[in-house]
Formats: sequence, structure tokens, C-alpha cells
Amino acid sequence: MAIWNPWHGCRKISPGCANCYVYRRDESIGKDASVVSKTGDYALPLKKNRQGEYKLTADDGVVFTCMTSDFFLDLADDWRQECWDMIRQRQDLHFCIITKRIDRFRLCIPPDWGDGWDNVTICNTCEDQERADYRLPVFLELPIKHREIICEPMLGEIKIEKYLATGLIENVTCGGESGDNARSCDMRWIQEVRRECVRCGVPFYFKQTGTVFVRDGKTYHIERKYQMSQAKRSGYSYIPGTASANWIRYELPEREELFNRLRKSDFRSRFHLNDNDIAYISEKGIEVIRSHAQDFVEKRLSAENPENDGKQTPMKGHPVFIAQHATACCCRGCLEKWHNIPAGKVLTKDERAYITDVLMQWIEAEYKHKH
Ligand code: SF4
Ligand SMILES: [Zn+2]
Repeated sequence: MAIWNPWHGCRKISPGCANCYVYRRDESIGKDASVVSKTGDYALPLKKNRQGEYKLTADDGVVFTCMTSDFFLDLADDWRQECWDMIRQRQDLHFCIITKRIDRFRLCIPPDWGDGWDNVTICNTCEDQERADYRLPVFLELPIKHREIICEPMLGEIKIEKYLATGLIENVTCGGESGDNARSCDMRWIQEVRRECVRCGVPFYFKQTGTVFVRDGKTYHIERKYQMSQAKRSGYSYIPGTASANWIRYELPEREELFNRLRKSDFRSRFHLNDNDIAYISEKGIEVIRSHAQDFVEKRLSAENPENDGKQTPMKGHPVFIAQHATACCCRGCLEKWHNIPAGKVLTKDERAYITDVLMQWIEAEYKHKH
């Protein structure tokens, strides 16, 4: 990725701005971030090297534009058209513009904008429900070719499913707030947006935990250097069409991908059937085991909020229990994380069939191997 900051400085306009990193960074060097001025990089997209080639090339990746200000800030009205001219000239580059001022968009576009430019993605930030409900309807009405939503810093629960259902949003990013005065971010908010994305088939990116992260009611203080890696490790990002997202089609490559991921997990790959389990399967026959699996899925996992969720699957005592841990079909949290089956709703018939199928595939493979 590349960064192009044509001007620097901004004015706070909403709760998400309270601990703005531009202000924080400027303060630390005794600078006033509310003073807005052009930077030396103003014309970066047109700058050339000694060989006469553009300094910025497509190989640099997406050009994040105006990251130390807001592209639609009124104080920059006199400069913006020239920036559009540069963006127009560089059709070979893709520009990504993040804004909290989507309501100024129509005042700011160039005369030949038409129904949007292919090489521009607009990311609309909404940090809470109020901002989402004000900005997103405006955002969806505008002529824009590529739209993304950013909920960062996430300051509360945000419901955006009705906006995602329009099919006009290409990606959603969520994250907590960093810095000393950071407000807390709750994993449940992240999970809820992710569920909405899964239901609407929209990619979801959990970018960072922020400094103060709440998980299962416990508050964690996370150092800056771990905020992104922790989010990554949680495995909560979601790309439709990969892993088991398309599981309903029962396509083999995706299933294989799931088993590959399970093998890579230290925890999951530790589970194996023991001699008693193998003897039990021999005695009962595989079809009886399948009916047990169906039964466990039905009784222990299917409800909207299963009893004891997270602890409902014993660690031993039945081959299906072992298979559940080995394949991450042990509770609704694991089903959501590994299989993209949203928690908090009754499992459908297809979902139950899919889970049973995964369990039996694992059991049959173990059985073949050991028997
Ligand atoms: S709009 Fe962005 S850059 Fe401007 S003050 Fe708010 S957070 Fe900072
Ligand atoms: Zn589990």
C-alpha cells in the first residue's frame, strides 16, 4: 500500500474524533493539528523520478489518500479539484478515501464524476449507531463505484445489516481504539457485525483490538504492538467464498481447506479416537454413530442459545464428542469462528446436516486410519 497525504490537519466532527491520532501525534511534537495546510507530497501521484517514471506505481498497491486529514474537509475546498485531476490522470492506480464527511460528497466531486470512477473506493466511517444511521443512507444514495464501511474506533454496538443487504458494500472493517485514553471495545460488537456480514455475504475485516478490549466480560489492556496481531489471531475476519463460507454447496475444495486449517491448529489436531472409541464404532456400526451425531447436534447445538454453550461437549466418552472438538463443532462460538455459522439463531436443517457431515468425515478418516 501507498499513502498520499496532500494536506495535513483536520477538525474534529464526531465522537470518533475524540482521540484522533493526527491530533495525538501532532501534540507530541508541539504542533497544532487544527491548522490545515498543503504538504510537500501534494502532487505525489504526478511526481516522477530521474528516469521520468512515476514514483507511485501500481506495484505500490492501493493509494490511501488523505490519511492525516479528511478529504472532504471544507477547509480543503480550494485544493481538492486539483487532486481529482491527479486521480483522473492516474487510472493505473487505485485510490482509497476514508471519510467522516460523506454528507459533503456531492459538493466536492468533479464535474465529470458521472456515476463514479472505477479507480476510487470511498470508505465511510461510522463509529456508533447514530453515525451509521445518519451517514450510511447518504452513502448508499451517492454515485460511487466502490463502497466500504469502517467501524473504527468502534464505540458501541452497531447494526448495519439493512445497509449491507443492498449489496452495495464491498467490505466492512471493525476495530477498537488505540492510545492512552482509548475507549473500550467489546468483542460482542465485533462478532455481531461479523454475523451481519456473513448473512449478507460481505467480506469482514477485524483489524485491531484497540487498547482496551473486552472479551467475555473481562477487560484486557493490549499493547499497541499486539493490537493487530491479536485481532488476526482471533480468526474473526471473513472472506465469502473461502473456507467453509460456501459450505452449503458441499464442495470438496472448501471442505479440504477446512480440514487443512484444523490440522494446523495445535489444539484441534491434538484430538484423536482412542482404542475404546474405535471398538465402540466397530460394535455399533457407522450408521448408528451418524445417528448419534445427528442427535448431539440437534440437542446440544441447535437452539438459539444452547444451554451451557462453550461447555456442552465433553472431552471424552463418545467418538462424536472427540470429533466435535477436532473439527471445531463443539459449541456455537466455534461453529461461528471456524464454519461461519452465525451464533444466536436456531440452526437450519442444512446447517445441521453440514455439521453432521463434517463430524462423520473426520470420524471415518480416523476409523480407517486406526482400524
Ligand atoms: S475526521 Fe479523522 S482526521 Fe479529522 S479529526 Fe476526525 S478522526 Fe481526525
Ligand atoms: Zn467450542
